[in-house]
Amino acid sequence: QPYFTSWVMHCTERTFVAIKPDGVHRALIGRTIARLEDKGYSLVALKLLKPSRTLAESHYESLRSKPFFDNLVSFITSGPVCAMVWEGKDVVAQVRKLIGNTDPLSSAPGTIRGDFGIDIGRNIIHGSDNISNAEREIQLWFHSEELVEWNPNLHEWIYEKV
Ligand code: GDP
Ligand code: MG
Repeated sequence: QPYFTSWVMHCTERTFVAIKPDGVHRALIGRTIARLEDKGYSLVALKLLKPSRTLAESHYESLRSKPFFDNLVSFITSGPVCAMVWEGKDVVAQVRKLIGNTDPLSSAPGTIRGDFGIDIGRNIIHGSDNISNAEREIQLWFHSEELVEWNPNLHEWIYEKV
């Protein structure tokens, strides 16, 4: 087996990331993508869409009983969302760190929410909170044929060979 596949195997974890309508309107798509690329992660899928109510409600189904649920679903369906799948070692946890805390007040400067957000209901971006939710959300937002398999050349310089 080629040298390459021996260390590429451990960097196939995937997460679902969505730039919410506030992030799209505020022209933060490019800067968000740049931060994840800069870190070393690879884009597997990307699309801009206005999510249906059904999609938004299933995406946030664990929050159905919360008082802010209706506003959250109305907001997320109100405009374009940039839906993405990102791949790499520890990508779920690392993207959560890069995004920052749910409430921008508790998000450190340097994180996306810490740098660009003020209100918890306008916190720019979503990232899956664990691996099984990532799998669920990727399936919810994307068809399998939209996920692109590729081997970034940079992997050789980002990952230690195992
Ligand atoms: P996340 O995983 O950090 O996005 O946070 P949650 O999964 O707990 O909540 C999903 C989204 O609901 C958050 O990103 C916020 O936009 C919104 N949200 C969460 N908690 C609150 C709240 O207390 N008030 C309001 N208005 N929105 C909230
Ligand atoms: Mg969440």
